Amino acid sequence: MSISNPVVTTSIIVSNIPVQVVRKSIKNLHLSVCPPDGHVRVAVPVQMTDDNVRLAVITHLSWIKKQQAKFQAQTRQSPREMITGESHYLFGKRYRLEVIEHRGRHEVVIKNNSTLQLFITPGTSTQNRALVLNEWYRDQLKARIPDLLNHWQPVIGKEVADWGIKRMKTKWGSCNISQRRIWLNLELAKKPIECLEYVLVHELVHLLERHHNARFKAYMDKYLPHWQQCRDILKREPLENENWVD
Ligand SMILES: [Zn+2]
Repeated sequence: MSISNPVVTTSIIVSNIPVQVVRKSIKNLHLSVCPPDGHVRVAVPVQMTDDNVRLAVITHLSWIKKQQAKFQAQTRQSPREMITGESHYLFGKRYRLEVIEHRGRHEVVIKNNSTLQLFITPGTSTQNRALVLNEWYRDQLKARIPDLLNHWQPVIGKEVADWGIKRMKTKWGSCNISQRRIWLNLELAKKPIECLEYVLVHELVHLLERHHNARFKAYMDKYLPHWQQCRDILKREPLENENWVD
């Protein structure tokens, strides 16, 4: 820390959260969660040690997470215009959208593990761009579900007669027990793959137990010990009219 530069910025990681630490000539610690992405910044007196900063951040962890969830909600609610530069998610990973007009079929291509290239014919409406992307999301889910079923059906000892993907406003998944048919929400393509697995296992467990009772929870604990973490991820980013998994 040099005397000529009284403001020194460093960064530390606390409970998996990156924290920007700004040391300056102030008396009290000031913690903030900043727009637009909810990053954490803490201004502290020059002489405060990293350990003490860490402690202060940990003390306020639940508050920080609440603030971050608010920013996430704001990002989520902003309507997508389907234009270059927007963020879109596939299995929990963020991609930058690049819209490319061409004379050919509509197509979505992942480039450099960071960009979603949306190839469309000139003049394609926002709504139709969204349709192209949604069909691509559907394909991404369809490509992942068979492996998950092949793994989980023998473990749980039940098989579905049929499964499908659809857009649902209130449910992440549903199970018709008598017909042994499972529906999975298209939105799951945007969430971490563990969330898809969790919803799938949840619906398969309904073939063993209809109700969300102690027996049902015991099955979930047995098959997917981290199921509550997956549920929490989905709860943090709720559907329009969320009713929870059925
Ligand atoms: Zn259920």
